[in-house]
Amino acid sequence: MLSDPSRGVNAAQQPYDLLIVGGGINGVGIARDAAGRGASVLLVEQHDLASHTSSASTKLIHGGLRYLEYYEFRLVREALIERERLLAIAPHIIWPLSFVLPHSRLVRPAWMLRMGLFLYDHLGGRMTLPRSRGVRLDRDPVGTPLRPEYRRAFIYSDGRVLDSRLVVLNAMDARAKGADIRTRTRLVAARRVDGVWEATIEDASGQQVVRARGLVNAAGPWVERILRDTLAIGTSKQVRLVKGSHIVVPRCFEGEQAYIFQNPDRRIVFAIPYERDFTLIGTTDIPWAADPGEVRIADDEVRYLCESVNRYFRKAVTPEDVVWTYAGVRPLYDDAAQNASAVTRDYVLDVDAPPGEGVLLSIFGGKITTYRRLAEHALEKLAPSLPVLGGAGWTASRPLPGGDLGPGGFESAVARLRAHAPFLSADDAWRLVRNYGTLAWEIVGTARNRADLGEDFGGGLTAREVDYLVAQEWAVTAEDILWRRSRQGLHIDGAGQARLERYLDARREAVRDSRPAMAG
Ligand SMILES: Cc1cc2nc3c(=O)[nH]c(=O)nc-3n(C[C@H](O)[C@H](O)[C@H](O)COP(=O)(O)OP(=O)(O)OC[C@H]3O[C@@H](n4cnc5c(N)ncnc54)[C@H](O)[C@@H]3O)c2cc1C
Repeated sequence: MLSDPSRGVNAAQQPYDLLIVGGGINGVGIARDAAGRGASVLLVEQHDLASHTSSASTKLIHGGLRYLEYYEFRLVREALIERERLLAIAPHIIWPLSFVLPHSRLVRPAWMLRMGLFLYDHLGGRMTLPRSRGVRLDRDPVGTPLRPEYRRAFIYSDGRVLDSRLVVLNAMDARAKGADIRTRTRLVAARRVDGVWEATIEDASGQQVVRARGLVNAAGPWVERILRDTLAIGTSKQVRLVKGSHIVVPRCFEGEQAYIFQNPDRRIVFAIPYERDFTLIGTTDIPWAADPGEVRIADDEVRYLCESVNRYFRKAVTPEDVVWTYAGVRPLYDDAAQNASAVTRDYVLDVDAPPGEGVLLSIFGGKITTYRRLAEHALEKLAPSLPVLGGAGWTASRPLPGGDLGPGGFESAVARLRAHAPFLSADDAWRLVRNYGTLAWEIVGTARNRADLGEDFGGGLTAREVDYLVAQEWAVTAEDILWRRSRQGLHIDGAGQARLERYLDARREAVRDSRPAMAG
């Protein structure tokens, strides 16, 4: 399908139905759905899959309790319905989490929280998660880490997700259905020629020209730049870039519950158990005008997040405790709200379909939680121009790769993996099922003992897993593996990380050496 620009485009080649720009959650979600409906799809991601906003989230599959305050009923209802669906189709990487919301009289009255939670329990219809309830903090273990002035709290349910793995699993399923997924490949230019898009894409080996009937601009924080600079197409819609940062500290409370704290500025900050030994604290809302690729947490954000949790926790969290941070840019649809926290979290799909020309769809905004439904809406909008997309939606109930855990669910899958591979420790088996679901069996393969899994880089990461990530999940660098395909960067020391780098280098060299020398 690809052709060399110096030789021009081969008109005899069939154009793709869709060229999707962006390997974040929205791009891969659309690729999966479209490929499953029989469309030919090419997706290009300039860096690694999920290397930007889609790996920098708070990692919640949630309705968004606080959005009720902004009357975002459509979004909250859709997100609550999606929460149920995603828990069912990806039970390995998405699981329930209960949130403790201490009542702070200075911020919102208790009746307001009770009313919001009542709506939250009912807006989405059928709900398998426990409904919200009130607790006395002096009588419930969830009150132990909290300062004694907090007497009452509400407990409600939401879901949590391994965000970058959700992206990879959608990409894998899209590939399984025929989509061509190219990472480290950038859209450089595109224009409409003879009723289709003619696009120049670039990877390490050079530039190529491809043709497609439809173009999906799922570039997240770059959506406006693609329109303005790459396609030279005007739109009345604008994106509002809002930075959000997180800190990770050694675990600062016992138990599996998360906390949601109200700040005097009316913002909320989460403290979530993370990677067994840590607590994830976030987030902030800071307008962002610079390059989205350059986003970093600032010192005052670290202080703000520490102060936010220290209003509630007995044991203080300090900037010195921070072991890791990450920041991302929310590509929000600009609804002209005055303050960054109030900008809508709903999405807007903009279609540009001049008669007889290639169709263009651009995505403004969106949540990880609503990506699947967003993809359905996107295909509905594209279908009048691309009838191949007109089929019935199919993604609501089809498990994502590895999500077919079978009877007994997660715990039973862990027990089965241990029975299959008794040399795995309980922690290792748990981690493999959490990340790969039933695909963990592919990683373990026919190994009969620990040594068969190859070099151990620490934290349970072995050469066998690394090989799988390179072969099946588009992983190239140690960073891809340590921070996006897994969170093992938190568990593996510098020496282990250096060994991983060396292993990947040796692997690359071996592949280079095994290629036949070019004739002539
Ligand atoms: C701090 C924070 C917390 C959040 N928390 C949550 C949460 O808990 N739950 C939730 O549901 N949502 C949450 N969100 C929202 C969610 O993360 C985003 O809405 C979602 O990840 C956006 O995905 P995307 O695919 O649109 O963008 P991205 O993930 O940014 O993907 C766009 C991709 O396009 C690529 N690209 C750009 N230009 C080109 C080009 N020319 N060629 C090729 N590729 C290109 C980029 O490299 C990028 O990878 C949060 C967001 C932030 C920032």
